[in-house]
Amino acid sequence: MAGKVNRVLHIEQGKAEVVERPYPRVKEGFAIIKVHIAPICTEQKPFDIGFYEWYERADRLGHEGVGEIVELGPGVSGFSVGDRVIIYQGWACGTCWVCRQGLGATHCINFKGYQEIEDHNGSESGAGGFSQFRLAPVNMLQKIPDGLDYKYASAANCLIGCTYTAIQEHQIRPEHYCLVTGIGFIGCATIVNLKYRGAKVIVLGRSQGRMEMARQFGADLIVNPEDADWMDQVRAFTPDGRGPDFAFECSGYPYYQKKSIDVLRHYGTTILLGYAAQETDMTLNLHTETDLCWCHKSITASFDVAFRDRGDLLEVLQESWMQGQIDQLVTHQFPMSRATEAFETILAKKACKVHLLPQF
Ligand SMILES: [Zn+2]
Ligand SMILES: [Zn+2]
Repeated sequence: MAGKVNRVLHIEQGKAEVVERPYPRVKEGFAIIKVHIAPICTEQKPFDIGFYEWYERADRLGHEGVGEIVELGPGVSGFSVGDRVIIYQGWACGTCWVCRQGLGATHCINFKGYQEIEDHNGSESGAGGFSQFRLAPVNMLQKIPDGLDYKYASAANCLIGCTYTAIQEHQIRPEHYCLVTGIGFIGCATIVNLKYRGAKVIVLGRSQGRMEMARQFGADLIVNPEDADWMDQVRAFTPDGRGPDFAFECSGYPYYQKKSIDVLRHYGTTILLGYAAQETDMTLNLHTETDLCWCHKSITASFDVAFRDRGDLLEVLQESWMQGQIDQLVTHQFPMSRATEAFETILAKKACKVHLLPQF
């Protein structure tokens, strides 16, 4: 492979450009995948404010993707060159308590990130999602059935996938009243998965454009959190005015986190799905005794697709109703060479889910 290159996206504040890096090296337990779609998740933040979150390098961003295996490390079984696959984020150990239970790879006790993937393989590129050729551990790959378009398979990442697991974990059923806050692509995908289960959906939000999206995906009630009686409006929609059974908080900000907890019924649960991490004060002020204990409320979180949900998720992604929803959730696709335009579209709040296509 001497001289062969890998094109990857290098993102700085206000600038995203394709650069060339050495083609990846691959060891046992890993594969090289020619990426077909690289969805954007939270990577507009480095572009917007130069904040890299948990990423270590400007040329190794992105964590979602689908593509075709072009090379396998020695001794890999269960996959072949030419297989079409979904790539799940990171590198889970496969042997810890979390992995043995089939829970979320991101919550693996020995979870490793992208620096470790490249170091382990002696590679100088490829661990990031915004790559032409991506390096990934095979336990983070799932084969895509023949006939399932890459576009729908890619929704197994942070769109229908991570929200599917959050809703599956709490066994949401038609009798449940669920609040959703933070209407970006995760919030919209949460609404879709809740409607898939037949639940009632109440959305708390302010932006008119975003609320139109929420309505489009089937929100039953929309309430403005700036209204003095917002809590009464939400509760009035629920049986006996008791409050929502669950709140799916997708903004990541204390403003909505606190409201999500406060409005719940007794014995209700707030699930934190939002990821707003940035260099501002993200402290949530809670009085545990009055806000949680006396009313018996729970707070939990979920960031990832559980290993044990991968099979069922793939079935759901093959249903025509769900594919119709994904067609509406994915509002834009840009070639990677026009990534700057993609990030500007996201920052202008004109998009829901945006895909980068490794075309140069
Ligand atoms: Zn593990
Ligand atoms: Zn993601």
